[in-house]
Amino acid sequence: MFCRALSNFRCEGEGWMTTQHNTKSNPLPAFDAVIVGAGFSGLYMLHRLREAGLSACFYESGEGVGGVWYWNRYPGARCDSESIYYNYTFSEELYQEWTWSSRYPGQPEILRYLNFVADKFDLRRDIQFRTRVTAAHYDDDERKWRIQTNDGVTVMATYFISAVGCLSATNVPKMKGLETFEGQWFHTGNWPHEKVNFHGKRVGVIGTGSSGIQSIPVIAEEALHLTVFQRTAQYSSPAQNHELEEAYVQNAKNRFHEMKQSMRESTAGFPYRRSRVSALEVSEEERQQVYESAWAQGERRLSQHVHDHRTGKPVCTEQHACIHRTARGVDRGLHSIYS
Ligand SMILES: Cc1cc2nc3c(=O)[nH]c(=O)nc-3n(C[C@H](O)[C@H](O)[C@H](O)COP(=O)(O)OP(=O)(O)OC[C@H]3O[C@@H](n4cnc5c(N)ncnc54)[C@H](O)[C@@H]3O)c2cc1C
Repeated sequence: MFCRALSNFRCEGEGWMTTQHNTKSNPLPAFDAVIVGAGFSGLYMLHRLREAGLSACFYESGEGVGGVWYWNRYPGARCDSESIYYNYTFSEELYQEWTWSSRYPGQPEILRYLNFVADKFDLRRDIQFRTRVTAAHYDDDERKWRIQTNDGVTVMATYFISAVGCLSATNVPKMKGLETFEGQWFHTGNWPHEKVNFHGKRVGVIGTGSSGIQSIPVIAEEALHLTVFQRTAQYSSPAQNHELEEAYVQNAKNRFHEMKQSMRESTAGFPYRRSRVSALEVSEEERQQVYESAWAQGERRLSQHVHDHRTGKPVCTEQHACIHRTARGVDRGLHSIYS
């Protein structure tokens, strides 16, 4: 029994739904598990529960699958993990069937991938979209979770699986005057589905974290004038994004099992070998070469050469100085850094 069974309950009218009681003659709908959130994690959970023969009820507040990739539709949104690793590895068939276009694909392509997964494993039929879970309490007497949704339904489950992610809630800063502001305003984490037209407009972007850095150059191309409000400067190095060659993709597909194994054995799920060498153990000249080659390849590769590039203060200071030098020496604006 999956979530669709609940459609009977939703048709009974709001008054009925808010007065549901768990009685012997009229028990609440019960499932092995309730899953919340149709991003990477929740979709995989549903697949695994089905494989295990367990019943599940699945709620998602959005209108489609994708999680952060459903919500973050802002101009320039893309991942910064290499695509060939930023995907599922539970099914070799899936891995062989899907081909990424570039090293760091944009949001539309990642969303297409998650929809492809949902279709391939027929996941959507068990997901109740546009439904927000509002409460989950463990009932000691029943030894089950009691889960409530915003449409007044309560269900019981042995397992409550929260796959709500850590970035799915938007944080709109409390700014004086926002409620009376007469222009349009948007939050990158809840971007409209239709294209926002910046042509001929004066635009302000607040913040230069990942989303700001990705969206600023794209909005700047279109807007009449762009002002960026920055509290704290970020370091960003060139992503070195590029289209993937067929031979490279084929090689990754051929090495599926080996790659999966090294991803599982790695610290963060990427099959890069981490160096055990401290940057301070090597000569200054060697360090400079490492920094420059990391800049040329994309920063993430730095951990393959030295292990303390983010933790050792002298190393960070020196590395930042190198980034400053390189950034100043290279005739690139933010646009080419993230293109
Ligand atoms: C722009 C951007 C770029 C990123 N790039 C990378 C990257 O390159 N590499 C990387 O590893 N990670 C990246 N991340 C991190 C990303 O969050 C994870 O990689 C991953 O997609 C998280 O998946 P998830 O399933 O855990 O959660 P999410 O994708 O956050 O999905 C959670 C879902 O839960 C739903 N939900 C939340 N609360 C409720 C509720 N109460 N009731 C019903 N539904 C609810 C939300 O609507 C959402 O759809 C990026 C994130 C963003 C925003």
